[in-house]
Amino acid sequence: MQKNSNDIQVMLAEDKTTCCGCGLCTALCPKDAIRMQEDKNGYRYPVINTELCIKCKRCLNHCAYKKENSGTVPLEVFASSAKDKQLLQQAASGGIFGALALRILNAGGTVFGSALEQENGKLIPRHVMINNQANLPKIQGSKYVQSITDDVFALVQKEVQTGKPVLFSGTPCQVDAVKELIDSQKYPDFYTIDIICHGVPSVRMFQDYISEQEKKTGRTVTDMKFREKVKGWGLKGSITYRFPDGSVKRKLVPVNTSSYYRLFLTSEIYRENCYQCKYASQKRTGDITIGDYWGIENEHPEYLQNEQLNPEEGISCILVNTARGKKLLSQYGTDLTLLPSSFEKASRKNEQLTRPSHKGKNRETILKIYEQHGYHGIEQWYLKKQGAKVILYWFWNRIPPKLQKKLKKNS
Ligand SMILES: Cc1cc2nc3c(=O)[nH]c(=O)nc-3n(C[C@H](O)[C@H](O)[C@H](O)COP(=O)(O)OP(=O)(O)OC[C@H]3O[C@@H](n4cnc5c(N)ncnc54)[C@H](O)[C@@H]3O)c2cc1C
Repeated sequence: MQKNSNDIQVMLAEDKTTCCGCGLCTALCPKDAIRMQEDKNGYRYPVINTELCIKCKRCLNHCAYKKENSGTVPLEVFASSAKDKQLLQQAASGGIFGALALRILNAGGTVFGSALEQENGKLIPRHVMINNQANLPKIQGSKYVQSITDDVFALVQKEVQTGKPVLFSGTPCQVDAVKELIDSQKYPDFYTIDIICHGVPSVRMFQDYISEQEKKTGRTVTDMKFREKVKGWGLKGSITYRFPDGSVKRKLVPVNTSSYYRLFLTSEIYRENCYQCKYASQKRTGDITIGDYWGIENEHPEYLQNEQLNPEEGISCILVNTARGKKLLSQYGTDLTLLPSSFEKASRKNEQLTRPSHKGKNRETILKIYEQHGYHGIEQWYLKKQGAKVILYWFWNRIPPKLQKKLKKNS
């Protein structure tokens, strides 16, 4: 990390396992003395300017990440999906977030979530505030990268004071940070949703991956969707390219053909602290937790047989962790199909509910290559490592999904 003579690192960030990069400290500082700064791999850490610092220690005393996990064990668990097909199609999983958000917006409320915004030729993953339905699609869908939250904390604080319903969603560490800031007892219509999370890569690495695709194709990338559903629920992405004549084209990105997506899923490129994440457990920070219901076909075949839930469209698990979570579902969850399940069932194929991700065995190599040769180096390394498999993936991805499933079953 770069330092100038007036800067020191705060919050024990020298030890990268103790900072999740949420940026709450920057929002709390009464002297505006803390900035988030990238380390050599683009992961963001707080740096304090000692000339401005008055040593009030608000940043240290309110760092939720350094405290015990104050989350709660789920009271109820459901298998679920949104009834509205359009909301479901735009979402990564069962569309739970979109269905709840829409009801909150219709009640005159405000919703906070992660968007990919285009600014100065870059795609920036950051949390934004929305208060109308037209903007909902931009905060639907999973962005597999750290979403910047520094600037949003002050907005949440302001919104809850209006007394209108406010919904904040994010990774468990982001939700814990917001709960450290907002005294929920004072604001009965303030709700939080944490997503099940395996970890987040750095913003810079994501942007460099996108630049690499732009260089290869000579086109501008205007969007990336990590969970594209045109071929059903699963792990398939898409990149939207803009051609020089202004026309746009969306190209599907199967996991194995994308170095970034693959390295994300194999836990090679997360922030250091994600590998020891205290929130990867049954104790949850949000009023409710949402995630994919992987393994639903074995856990609840009955829900699929009578078509109450459709695995082609996306199915989620919902953990209801607090009395407020129950209120959120009863008041704003009327557009959800809710079917009883259990933590044991929902967590069997979703390991991040019981333990943090294991560090990928190539992580150190990859980060070194990135430091020395940029993302282009990673791309070269990945292609070399995959070798002839890349051609096989190419053929595999041209087989219709139903036939792929049959072939997998028979193999
Ligand atoms: C980095 C990451 C890792 C994940 N890991 C898992 C996992 O291991 N197991 C699992 O079951 N599910 C995981 N998910 C969650 C899953 O992909 C779905 O987002 C979730 O099931 C919600 O689906 P949905 O259809 O209800 O809503 P969607 O519309 O798909 O999700 C939108 C919600 O996700 C939030 N969100 C999207 N990207 C980010 C981000 N970068 N940072 C913070 N919040 C974000 C939005 O604010 C919004 O609340 C992960 C998501 C992310 C972003």
